[in-house]
Amino acid sequence: MKDNRQNHNSSFIDGVWIDSSSSEPFAVRDPGDTRKVVATYLTAGEEETLNAVAAVKRAFGAWATTPASDRAQYVYALIDLWRDRIEEVARTATSEMGKPLRESRSEATRAIVEMRYWAAEALHLGDRTFESTRPNTVAYTIRQPIGPVAAITPWNFPILTPLRKVIPALVCGCTVILKPAVQAPGPSVLIAEMLEKVQLPKGVFNLIVGSGRSVGGILTANPDIAGISFTGSTQVGLAIERVAADRNAKVQLEMGGKNAAVVADYSNIDHAAKEIVNAAFTTSGQRCTSVSRVIVLKEQQKELEAALKRYAEERKVGHGLDEESEMGPVSNDEQMEKVEHYISLARNGEGHIITGGHRSSEEGYYFEPTIVTDVRPDSPLATEEIFGPVLTVVPVKDFEEAVSANNGTVYGLTSAIFTDRMEFAHQFTMRSEAGMVHVNHGTSSEGHLPFGGWKQSGQGAFGIGDTSKEFFTNLKAVYRMNPAG
Ligand code: NAP
Repeated sequence: MKDNRQNHNSSFIDGVWIDSSSSEPFAVRDPGDTRKVVATYLTAGEEETLNAVAAVKRAFGAWATTPASDRAQYVYALIDLWRDRIEEVARTATSEMGKPLRESRSEATRAIVEMRYWAAEALHLGDRTFESTRPNTVAYTIRQPIGPVAAITPWNFPILTPLRKVIPALVCGCTVILKPAVQAPGPSVLIAEMLEKVQLPKGVFNLIVGSGRSVGGILTANPDIAGISFTGSTQVGLAIERVAADRNAKVQLEMGGKNAAVVADYSNIDHAAKEIVNAAFTTSGQRCTSVSRVIVLKEQQKELEAALKRYAEERKVGHGLDEESEMGPVSNDEQMEKVEHYISLARNGEGHIITGGHRSSEEGYYFEPTIVTDVRPDSPLATEEIFGPVLTVVPVKDFEEAVSANNGTVYGLTSAIFTDRMEFAHQFTMRSEAGMVHVNHGTSSEGHLPFGGWKQSGQGAFGIGDTSKEFFTNLKAVYRMNPAG
């Protein structure tokens, strides 16, 4: 069988693998050893992107009127193929973006749970009925697919994020163009291969491997694309929102975060430290839900720091494909530079490094799990998204200061509190300006709950759970009178 990751047929448009001729091959390097090229892709350009738009437009009418339960059968068929390819999908993700294999396996396995959830949603796309105030009248709302959509995804969850958009879109009756990040398109290529095998009608699903600035921009601005479901940085998300607003296209934006864990009067410091270190250093801190600051009441600062340091130092850093690794490299040069920039701020008076703080290899993008303490709530280290293995500790004098520090960033994705006091747990839940709140629990989410952010972390319907249907469908209110009674 042809390997679509190693030849030029990287994009899948209108049921055909495309031999793009518009650019030089793009080489993805192993973040754990940048001397190695792990895959090459010939990226698509404007011509291929416009062909994909024409394909989703052509395919939409028939797909939208296919019964939702029939659409879901393709998802069940995909799940059957997926089970046998979990290891391949996981290895592909790890080799391109660097996270430990155990994390990629868990991402690929969880994909089955989420795909099953969404296939079952096909029978729940109905809406509500209402009592009418008029005689012989029934009133109800229905949901209809919004049209062809673009799904634009980042490299940090290269398996689940594309599926979290493509599967609900298909079940809801939208046709889709998926544009994954060029850094890690491999899992999306495998998704496309499997969707080809299950014989999804041509044009219903299309894959464009190409750079965001060129092909992403074309998709966002195109009047035939009814909605853009985007996951990525706030900067790019807001730019997409501005372009989409000009033509009132729908957006679902899942963007950056600067998630805090507050520790306030909590007796089980060891439990808090374990949960926080996991939430901080999984995927080398490159998850939108990573905890990147701990806000702690001063009385518990020393005890918490000692436990955080112990757990951080236990983490085994190594190549993602090494079964023993618990933390891989950061994913690319840009991430490395960003981490080094914030560490230099720490060294120049913004905090004290209590563990880590160094790049640990020149061949790969390895950086030690790092904890910086005594950071002011308004320091760039405490307010800007670092997206790397750097946890900052912000000591505060009381609970009020903790809430204010928690809310003191432009982001509002997720937040956590560790406390024994019911009034703190309740107050924090109600006052945290974030789309998700965790009590005595790290910031990981579950595959059937709505997932999204407030402020500059999100816009539009929450994703992952059943709320995605609010994005992929439009609501229509129907009044039906039968004058004959
Ligand atoms: P990014 O740079 O914003 O890129 C995300 C996607 O947008 C990529 O496919 C990128 O393409 C594309 N893109 C770039 N410029 C574009 C443009 N002008 N128009 C249309 N598309 C464009 O983000 P990233 O570095 O891949 O991912 C890290 C960020 O994602 C972090 O900020 C993280 O917090 C966020 N994130 C958020 C969530 C969430 O659910 N809230 C989840 C995961 C990650 P190319 O890269 O191929 O050029």
